[in-house]
Amino acid sequence: MPDPENHPRPFEAGSNDRRGSGRDVLIDPFGRRIDYLRLSVIDACNYRCVYCVPECGIAPTPAQGRLSAAELVRVARVFAGLGVGRIRLTGGEPLVRRDLVDIAARIAALDGVRDLSMSTNGHRLGQQAKALRAAGIGRVNVSLDSLDAERFATITRGGRLDSVLDGIEAARAAGMAPIKINMVVMAGENDDELEAMLDFTRADELELRFIEAMPVGDAGETAATRRIDAAAILERVRVWGGGDLIPATTSCGGGPARMFRFPGGRGTVGVISAVSRHFCATCNRVRVTAEGDLLLCLGHEGAVSLREPMREGAGDAELAAIVRGAVARKPWGHEFDHAGAAHGVSPNQMLRTGG
Ligand code: SAM
Repeated sequence: MPDPENHPRPFEAGSNDRRGSGRDVLIDPFGRRIDYLRLSVIDACNYRCVYCVPECGIAPTPAQGRLSAAELVRVARVFAGLGVGRIRLTGGEPLVRRDLVDIAARIAALDGVRDLSMSTNGHRLGQQAKALRAAGIGRVNVSLDSLDAERFATITRGGRLDSVLDGIEAARAAGMAPIKINMVVMAGENDDELEAMLDFTRADELELRFIEAMPVGDAGETAATRRIDAAAILERVRVWGGGDLIPATTSCGGGPARMFRFPGGRGTVGVISAVSRHFCATCNRVRVTAEGDLLLCLGHEGAVSLREPMREGAGDAELAAIVRGAVARKPWGHEFDHAGAAHGVSPNQMLRTGG
């Protein structure tokens, strides 16, 4: 259950406001400004990470059910018109989508979009980083759960570590910055590699984020039973650094990670404690799936289709009204079960929601 002290009462229909900018902005019923969209471009992935997807996989949406490039750009335009200036392309694996560069260029060129980024497993980044940077993707988050090639292949069910490392280098060479490295920490899988990952990222101005495995989707039970709490992770970081953790004030993108500076190094390290110390009070985001479902919270199933009205001829103003109406019903937060019991697992699939 949500912590009642940390769970304010919603106020009256506070979904649409103009905060002195002359532009519409999205404010949810708890007064949170929504200015960040995670836009999934595809629900297929070339990896099947053990904490994200069950072994048998998840059936992808038939192609006609997925938003076209034009529809994705339209969704981004409607959100940008509502003051959502930061957009992250995600998936599935966005690099699996063939028209990604075109989609990125068109979204980056939209009025009101001031920060376009992407989450990727990095497998195909080596070939595409330069074109994506030119298209307007300024920064990337790369998932990297192990520095051991064999173990990496096991966790990702077939992934190639060398391809991902090449991808990180290509992103750097293309001028993407910052490059954030996301490691989902799992007991008995990769938790002995925290220090190796810190060594790897410290030298290179990479922004490392350790992520608590979240109980989401068909692999949620696996994730829940292997989760290591952020507090334990941070203690390991402190010991590794040989001193106190120094909070880092800025992290480009203003995400949910609690960030710290590397002692004596150039990069930063952070934790995303979505389960043990959630950050719902400062939630600033919504998600749109590759099928055009607007999802208001990772932990809640209720979604509002944008695809159907778009395909039935709705104009941008109508779509904006649908978005406003949905944001006016954004739940306070998730109710991930800290103990990881089955009933605490969110029915959403990470592969569809984009993380
Ligand atoms: N394929 C892209 C990638 O690897 O970043 C984008 C999609 S992926 C679903 C986005 C992020 O969600 C990744 O960093 C992944 O590690 C994370 N993720 C997936 N399942 C998770 C879980 N159960 N708990 C925590 N993070 C998870």
